[in-house]
Amino acid sequence: MRVINSIYPKLPVFAQHVAISSFGIYWRWLRFGPGHAQFLRGFLERESFQSSDWENWQSHRLEDVLKGAISVSYYSKIWTKSQKDSALAGKLLELPLLEKEPLRAAPHDFLRTDMHPIHPLTFYTSGSTGTPIATIWRVAELRKSQALREARSARWAGVSFHHARGTFSGRMVEPNPESKGPFYRLNLAEKQVYFSPFHLRPGTAKYYIRALEKHHIRWLTGYAVSYYLLAKFILGQGLAVPSGIQAVITTSEKLTSEMRTIMEQAFGCRVFEEYSNVENSLFASECEHGRLHVSPDVAVVEILRPDGSPCLPGEAGEVVATTLMRTYQPLIRFRLGDMAMWDTEPCPCGRQMPVIKEVIGRIEDVVIGPDGRQMVRFHGIFTNQPHIREGQIIQESMKTIRVKVVTTTEFGAEDIQDVTYRIQQRLGDVTVLVEPVSEIPRTKAGKFQAVISNLNNQGGL
Ligand SMILES: [Zn+2]
Repeated sequence: MRVINSIYPKLPVFAQHVAISSFGIYWRWLRFGPGHAQFLRGFLERESFQSSDWENWQSHRLEDVLKGAISVSYYSKIWTKSQKDSALAGKLLELPLLEKEPLRAAPHDFLRTDMHPIHPLTFYTSGSTGTPIATIWRVAELRKSQALREARSARWAGVSFHHARGTFSGRMVEPNPESKGPFYRLNLAEKQVYFSPFHLRPGTAKYYIRALEKHHIRWLTGYAVSYYLLAKFILGQGLAVPSGIQAVITTSEKLTSEMRTIMEQAFGCRVFEEYSNVENSLFASECEHGRLHVSPDVAVVEILRPDGSPCLPGEAGEVVATTLMRTYQPLIRFRLGDMAMWDTEPCPCGRQMPVIKEVIGRIEDVVIGPDGRQMVRFHGIFTNQPHIREGQIIQESMKTIRVKVVTTTEFGAEDIQDVTYRIQQRLGDVTVLVEPVSEIPRTKAGKFQAVISNLNNQGGL
């Protein structure tokens, strides 16, 4: 991988298409090779499970996972004798919560010592804050994860990984920041177009649309903010979107209802949200009724209050997950750093899979007012701001909020006043610095950060 990454930027565009397609053949084998069809059948069959079937299925799988975890050197060191007894008895709630730091510091300490995969794979979380975490997989686990996405994400949206798709992700696509295009590369092995999130601007949007047309793209997946931005350019410039696009499935980044509305208008199809992460410690996807169902065969998901007790439906809390699908590096009661709440109503689609009403945001995305009040998902202040294309909130201190905005030419003093008013209304007496910029830099993985807090750096928390 490292060799490919160092050679790739030096290749001409044509050779980059070939390199990606050749690598794509290997990836297709990894994802769709032996076992995939059987895994897919399993995921499809379990969708018709009743709640009692799910309970039985989960408790059996959990017993295996917890017994296996005893052989993991981290848990065997950290868990007390009575916690180990609880693990052997399958009593998950008696086990301690797992922070990210131990996993980040020593990912190999979390591997099952009784499993010896021939070809383990390592993927890194993008780590917008701090160092990335290495997650280590067996090939069979990767195939399962692909089968899961086919069954519960693509098919629920009426599409398939066998159809041509476009992807915005953190993969390096166009190494030159000053490139005049093309801003995508082809993976012929999977009829997939990789778009660069870094080059998307008002002047380049039309080239992205042309690529959708040229390669007969049927559905789009990847970063929510990139599709939202493209949608705004489409509407603003009256660009014609090819009619064959059937669905947009967003991953990473929070999808707000405003983003969804604009995207559905621009792309002329439904937008579906997928809530998961690189380590696959949880998976939730949207059904035809627009409800976000957790897959109980991927993880045991808990939503907890600060005192560790479970939240009631409709009550926001912290998401904690225990992996059932990835068992080589089992994560037991892992704190994901997300806030979410269970739905109070069952879904009319009939699937007996728990429904998350809302993923509220990252715990890191909290902004704090001088009187201590906390706001999550703060980027809501940009709703109905027609002259702001993108906005980012930076908490410089308890008293100062900087707002970076990429604006249209109509942006003026009234807009600045409006943003200032909205923030002061939510946070109280703070100084608001509205700063128009030409662009807002993405993280190394190409992700958009809605909120940045510098309080930790100053010891302000
Ligand atoms: Zn449903």
